[in-house]
Amino acid sequence: MPEGKPAGVPCIQLDSQRRCKLYGLPERPRVCVEFGADAAVCGESREQAMRWLGWPKR
Ligand code: SF4
Repeated sequence: MPEGKPAGVPCIQLDSQRRCKLYGLPERPRVCVEFGADAAVCGESREQAMRWLGWPKR
């Protein structure tokens, strides 16, 4: 996303199953490559992560 991804807005690189279309490719943003998912943030499901992050359900 040229201007950056605003909080709460799904990335345009997500496919219909919410998988990153750039995963494993050199075009994937560095911030995404360096992000380490952690159960303390992500929980055990997408719903739990979204609830903990305080974002509206999409
Ligand atoms: S990993 Fe990065 S590029 Fe891929 S979908 Fe998530 S935010 Fe978008």
